[in-house]
Amino acid sequence: MKRIFNFNAGPSTLPTEVLMEAKEELLDFRNSGISIMESSHRAKLYDDVHNEAIDLIRELYKVPKDYHILFLQGGASLQFAMVPMNLYLGNCAQYADTGSWSTKAIKEAKIQNVNYKIVASSKESGYDRIPKDINFSDEADYAYITSNNTIYGTQYKEFPKTKAPLVIDASSDILSYPVNWERIDLMFAGAQKNVGPAGVTIVIIKDSLLDRVKENVPTMLRYKTHAQKNSLYNTPPTFGIYMINLMMKWLKRKGGVEEIAKINAKKAKILYDTIDNSEGFYVGHAQKDSRSLMNVTFNIKDKNKELEEKLVKLAEKNEMIGLKGHRSVGGLRASIYNAMPIEGVEKLAKLMEEFRKEYQ
Ligand SMILES: *Cc1c(COP(=O)(O)O)cnc(C)c1O
Repeated sequence: MKRIFNFNAGPSTLPTEVLMEAKEELLDFRNSGISIMESSHRAKLYDDVHNEAIDLIRELYKVPKDYHILFLQGGASLQFAMVPMNLYLGNCAQYADTGSWSTKAIKEAKIQNVNYKIVASSKESGYDRIPKDINFSDEADYAYITSNNTIYGTQYKEFPKTKAPLVIDASSDILSYPVNWERIDLMFAGAQKNVGPAGVTIVIIKDSLLDRVKENVPTMLRYKTHAQKNSLYNTPPTFGIYMINLMMKWLKRKGGVEEIAKINAKKAKILYDTIDNSEGFYVGHAQKDSRSLMNVTFNIKDKNKELEEKLVKLAEKNEMIGLKGHRSVGGLRASIYNAMPIEGVEKLAKLMEEFRKEYQ
């Protein structure tokens, strides 16, 4: 069997251990004689998997009791539209613009004629940072941020303080470090970066927000529908939720969110040190105090496309894939989510160093 290091931004690498478990029980799940994929979503066989997944997320992420944890579909991108549908009260919605994903969320508010305001943006500097002193109005219906900017490689080190409900798109850093729920009212994330395969969106929402939804919002697009039915109003993406279940058990074995956060910091440091100690050969895209621990974005001196391509190709030859930067920023990007082993990062750092010595 061949397993290579996969630095793709999403869908991204999953632990070999977890894939082996899924393989092991694919045909006969828990002695039932059927695959979990074939189970009715109303059967106890599936129900246990579903509830274990929810309970494990709550336990590992320390989600307080007065929040619902939902499994939805439509990707993080549907959340861009569902947030205003469910939370906007006709007053004002406030956004921090830190890149393409925030821009797309703002676009959905605009479509719904939301009176929105962009209170801070790092667009002018090519989204290379998280703006300082973001001031959301306490009176806003909600305040919106993207905690980790997958494309640009920037990440909030602290969430802005506001009395308005804070909505966080945490698609690329959910469950990668402990968060303070006192500051968070709604968090959402597509599972395919840090938690499992594509097809499931995790929404963690404070109960007090569930009743805001407008009368003309379709049943399937109401958080309340899914909260009342424990995400079983209709058929949920059962196999994806099963994979999340396995991922959460894996995370627990790793020591939980606190431990994985330490490992993630260590992994990021290896790559950022390689960049910083390269005498200008590698240039990080993000300002140092905004650097992401999940997506390390960088160029080669003078944005040398030829050398960048060469490095991507050389990495592929050495069984490391997915290092090409997003088409909107170019350069290179190493996505090093929870499931990327430290060995993968060390191998990449070593190759970067050898490459530099050859071409600097
Ligand atoms: C990938 C990503 C999205 C889009 O997720 P989909 O599930 O493809 O809709 C949104 N926000 C962030 C921060 C992302 O990284």
